[in-house]
Amino acid sequence: MQVNEHIARMPAAYLFSDIARRVGEYEAKHPGERLIRMGIGDVTRPLAPSVARAFASAAAGMAEPEGFFGYAPDSGYPFLIEAIIKNDYEARGVSLSPDEVFISDGAKSDTGALQELFAADARIAVTDPVYPVYVDSNAMAGRLGEYRDGKWSRLVTLPCTHGNGFVPQLPEGGADVLYLCCPNNPTGTVLSHAQLKKIVDWAREREVLIIFDAAYKAFIADPALPRSIYEVEGAKETAVECCSFSKTAGFTGVRCAYTVIPRQLSGKLPGGGTASLNALWRRRQGSRFNGVSYPVQRAAQAVYTPEGQRENREIIDYYRENARILLDALRGAGREPVGGLHAPYIWMKTPEGMSGWAFFDYLLSRAQVVGTPGEGFGECGAGCFRLTAFGSRENTTEAAGRVRDALMGL
Ligand code: PLP
Repeated sequence: MQVNEHIARMPAAYLFSDIARRVGEYEAKHPGERLIRMGIGDVTRPLAPSVARAFASAAAGMAEPEGFFGYAPDSGYPFLIEAIIKNDYEARGVSLSPDEVFISDGAKSDTGALQELFAADARIAVTDPVYPVYVDSNAMAGRLGEYRDGKWSRLVTLPCTHGNGFVPQLPEGGADVLYLCCPNNPTGTVLSHAQLKKIVDWAREREVLIIFDAAYKAFIADPALPRSIYEVEGAKETAVECCSFSKTAGFTGVRCAYTVIPRQLSGKLPGGGTASLNALWRRRQGSRFNGVSYPVQRAAQAVYTPEGQRENREIIDYYRENARILLDALRGAGREPVGGLHAPYIWMKTPEGMSGWAFFDYLLSRAQVVGTPGEGFGECGAGCFRLTAFGSRENTTEAAGRVRDALMGL
């Protein structure tokens, strides 16, 4: 048996293992010091009580004949699909039909698996810095060419930097697929309606498919900013949207997400003609996915009850306040961080021209705070650093003070 050479030749996923190694070495040398982890994008607040109650009640029901459910429908229970359409779309002027929404176990699985719908030689474009799943999943399918000097030869990258205000410059040469993450991980920045419209128009003109990852949409504080790409005219003809309950409602461990594939979205067939992406994904899911468990979908449905909405808003506000504390501390130390207003991530240039890794080591040794070096997200992340607002208030406040003092000490 020969292995998939594309996976075998991939560069190691060094970011979080490298962080763990450096932290482990530091801890071994400095036992007793209290490290504060502000690096990984996992939530820390528990589930909203009303969501946990719905989860527990559905799980308990599974022990009764009338409350027991076996395989769930591949694309989700109608009760959850209806709640999503009503609350996340119709409330914002977007109409969808139930067969356009696919419930899944995560936006990571969906953003990683959607590439199975693309031709083997499809040209992939991503913003840089980027959530690594989009790149890795296409690399594993052999679409990105050779990996040399830190770059994939067939990958189109759209720099998003302080210089261009984190608005991707669209490539003249086009692409077949563009992955867009908004609000963005790692930069914490968002695109306005007008900025998204330009991208949608560009994609429609060139027949580019947009994979729009809106995993952080619950953090958008300004009602004028789009929460869905479908709020932009024409987007249904060009975009798939991936959403998740992970950051919206603390489901990182529970696992539930959804992907929207409008019926009018199609791709080209090799001999001419087109194929519906919705039909292709339904076919793919039918063969490779066996649904999300009933109690989890009942828990996700509870996110949309008035109580669930109120409780989850409080949790998001808690993280927002953490972001404000971090932003204030960084500004107090003379830095100009971005993000944190409509996203749980704060992104900054490192001081004194340090690399992200050098600043990582500096903060670890001076402040005992662990962040994420921008280099882990792509070439344009070099010399940048990410902090998350997902910590506890106590840790965030303590870390903010320590980081400010460390920056002032430079
Ligand atoms: N998309 C982005 C941009 C993310 O940052 C993450 C997780 O950090 C995910 C998707 C994963 O979402 P899920 O937990 O639904 O798999």
